[in-house]
Amino acid sequence: MNRGRLPQAAAWAEGSVQGRPASRVRPSYPGWPSEANWDRLKREVGGRLITPQSPLSACRDAPSSALARAVLQRLRNPYSIGEQPGLTQTSGWVGAWTSQPSAYVVVARTTEDLVAAVTFARENNLRLVVKGGGHSYQGTSNAADSLLVWTREMHAVTVHAALVASGCAHVHAPQPAGTIAAGAQWRAAYQAVTTRAGRDVQGGGCATVGVAGLIRSGGFGSFSKNDGLAAAALLEAEIVTADGAVLIANACTNADLFWGIKGGGGGSLGIVTRRTLRTRELPLFGSASSTDTAASGSGPAGLALREHLAMRVEGPYAVAFTATRGVEAHVLDLARVHGARLDLVDHSRTPSLT
Ligand SMILES: Cc1cc2nc3c(=O)[nH]c(=O)nc-3n(C[C@H](O)[C@H](O)[C@H](O)COP(=O)(O)OP(=O)(O)OC[C@H]3O[C@@H](n4cnc5c(N)ncnc54)[C@H](O)[C@@H]3O)c2cc1C
Repeated sequence: MNRGRLPQAAAWAEGSVQGRPASRVRPSYPGWPSEANWDRLKREVGGRLITPQSPLSACRDAPSSALARAVLQRLRNPYSIGEQPGLTQTSGWVGAWTSQPSAYVVVARTTEDLVAAVTFARENNLRLVVKGGGHSYQGTSNAADSLLVWTREMHAVTVHAALVASGCAHVHAPQPAGTIAAGAQWRAAYQAVTTRAGRDVQGGGCATVGVAGLIRSGGFGSFSKNDGLAAAALLEAEIVTADGAVLIANACTNADLFWGIKGGGGGSLGIVTRRTLRTRELPLFGSASSTDTAASGSGPAGLALREHLAMRVEGPYAVAFTATRGVEAHVLDLARVHGARLDLVDHSRTPSLT
């Protein structure tokens, strides 16, 4: 990648590409695209341009109606929220922002849809936002009066037995990997990689979080203390930059862009269409527990369990205490447990490693 492109991409995020005014055009401003222009975009994206509604308007208009109650009931289900382009999974962290539907939504299915949306937003100086799983605490996938690129329908996951990132044949040996499209949630990634292919991919704990969104901020999961951040497993990505170019980024091609998308922030360097992540062998995993509910598990059984672990487990393990369940220990690699068997049962008052 031309290094000049990174400042350009950052400027796009801040609103001053190619000398355009910093303020974006909104529906009430002169310069808002005409109906004919929106129709053109609609044709370019195969008809998948919609004006989203917020289901919450039913609650505002008639708070005690049956419809409002049904809407509130559905809001308890994160999967249902994720199916609504006008909603977000968080609704204004510490009151810093308010979730609001965009003016228009491109329901993207292909890289070409993303290029068309980016080009239209750039040419018309529009606010452009990208939403995958919709879990941004900061509301960075949400903006009133914007054009939203909704990647929900791009959710394919492909598992590779041995993959070399494009242009990296001279640097890297083939390795097992999975390619995950822009809008896939971790649920889809775990299903394809772990349930069906028997491999492990480092992601987060919440199944409805988007893969692209989590990786853009690093991503911490259950095995991160052993395997590193989710972004550390990134081998390659395809990305649409502000100028509408479709680039491959990996350690050997556009390496600076690759570095930037491994935790550099959401959407600021372009829209990622797919990411390829290294997969690992599934860890041998075991846990032990003691129902010692003394404060912090500091009673006799809790202390004995900790001592037992310290003597017998080599390598990472986590110990947690909850007032109701007592002390729990999770050992990542059972091969590193010496002279002890790790049971998955609750040994009340008795340390569980025997
Ligand atoms: C309930 C909950 C549980 C969580 N659990 C964990 C966890 O276990 N580990 C962890 O590390 N984090 C966790 N998080 C934080 C989460 O990883 C971040 O909020 C993440 O950014 C959400 O991604 P998303 O796709 O769901 O959200 P979105 O709001 O859709 O996207 C987040 C950001 O990424 C951008 N973005 C989305 N798709 C793309 C794309 N294709 N190209 C470029 N930019 C894009 C968006 O524009 C936005 O700026 C959790 C958050 C919540 C609300």
